[in-house]
Amino acid sequence: MNLTAPSKIQNYIGGSFRDAIGAAWIENMNPATGECYSQTPDSDDRDIDFAAGAAQAAFPAWSTTPLEERFKILNRIAELIDQNLEALALAESNDNGKPLSLSKRVDIPRASSNFRFFATGLLHTSTESHNMEDRAINYTLRQPIGVVGCISPWNLPLYLFTWKIAPALAAGNCVVAKPSEVTPMTAYLLSIICKEAGLPSGVLNIVHGAGPKCGSAIVAHPLIKAISFTGSTRAGRDIAAVAAPQFKKLSLELGGKNPNIIFADCDWDKMMRTTLQSSFANQGQICLCGSRILIEESIYEQFKAEFVARAAKLTVGDPLVADNKQGAVVSQLHFDKVMGMIDQAKAEGGRLLLGGQSVHPEGRCAKGLFIQPTIFEGLDAHCRTNMEEIFGPVVTLQSFRTEDEALQLANTSDYGLAASIWTKDVSRAHRMAAQVHSGIIWVNCWLLRDLRTPFGGFKNSGIGREGGWEALKFFTDPKNVCIEL
Ligand code: NAD
Repeated sequence: MNLTAPSKIQNYIGGSFRDAIGAAWIENMNPATGECYSQTPDSDDRDIDFAAGAAQAAFPAWSTTPLEERFKILNRIAELIDQNLEALALAESNDNGKPLSLSKRVDIPRASSNFRFFATGLLHTSTESHNMEDRAINYTLRQPIGVVGCISPWNLPLYLFTWKIAPALAAGNCVVAKPSEVTPMTAYLLSIICKEAGLPSGVLNIVHGAGPKCGSAIVAHPLIKAISFTGSTRAGRDIAAVAAPQFKKLSLELGGKNPNIIFADCDWDKMMRTTLQSSFANQGQICLCGSRILIEESIYEQFKAEFVARAAKLTVGDPLVADNKQGAVVSQLHFDKVMGMIDQAKAEGGRLLLGGQSVHPEGRCAKGLFIQPTIFEGLDAHCRTNMEEIFGPVVTLQSFRTEDEALQLANTSDYGLAASIWTKDVSRAHRMAAQVHSGIIWVNCWLLRDLRTPFGGFKNSGIGREGGWEALKFFTDPKNVCIEL
């Protein structure tokens, strides 16, 4: 199989590759060079209707396909992703602007893990039974929902796309999926892989297009019974407003403004190394990045000096150059948003400790969208910079004196996705973990992921959980069967 990124990508519907019915296109840019990377179908409700029909037609056969057979196909997809790691990683970096080393090490391996995890997981499912002594026995059937919609964002394109599709397919559903129009390439390459792996036609349909036109058509379509969405809180709210009155099942993985809480008794070197990553990995464009760094007062100055010095050494530039630690941010729109938030932080009285400027590398990336790692201090916990998601290489430092104060600062957010706590005191770690309002707590680590664990957020970070059985439960409907004895 020769997986190369084409200049025009196509929808994958009913096992065939086709242009959007309206023959319209969206131009997709390589953010590191500013050049056009591909033309993407600008699909609309007609394409979604076609895809939903294809999925509905495929559902009876796929939902009754023996588990062993489903396992083989999904596992084959994982193998083909592994075999094409280099091509997929290059496509991801060109589409997204992220360092190639990151795509190779994280994004693409995780995409194959997602398929492998749920392919094997489906062989180990079991359901409950409730015995009413000698009167009756109840048992639970878990049945696939039918046609489901999966919509994903641009920051971890193939990683998050497959995190939804794999459990949906493993549970026996047929899928209409839409990747972000900003980074569609690896989803297109995945459709080629799925065909090669022998996934029957119509089981997975990948439709490309813009959120308000193509994404909203998925949410509104009457044949599509559940929506698994990862993206912004704003879009999540719009989706809930359309899906809720139709009583569709909803999983919403939304934004974050995560605290990184550092106590004086932490393992300093590990904390420092990891905090650099949790602040600036993928140019800060990971929903789990810690953007509010809360530091115990006694180590504040020491932390500030070392953190700023280390962040200043993160080289920003061409994502294909191995030594560069920071690539481009994903799009002009997003670049303007992040730079606007930097101006906002200055206007709010933030003291700029590092960065704050765009970067213009020489050579092929001269027109790319690069931003320096940026650090502010001196901002109030309630200001916009500390309350709104920036989703870029921008962090703020705040100090605290007591555990209570740290908690208060950590929980001063409308979001509740993730938090990191750095301390060697196990009792304190337990106390804090229980009281921080976040769905995911890392103690003395960050982004250490076990795919079996529940993944999702509190408050404006969403509803529902992905991962492990939570995902397989989401993509099935429980049915109780009661037999009187
Ligand atoms: P976005 O909400 O703009 O778009 C996400 C996806 O939804 C895209 O495919 C887009 O086309 C589609 N979309 C947009 N509006 C829609 C609508 N009204 N109806 C249906 N679909 C619609 O988000 P983005 O800018 O691509 O991604 C960044 C956001 O995603 C950040 O807020 C980040 O925190 C969040 N995110 C969350 C998680 C998580 O697991 N909680 C993971 C990654 C990213």
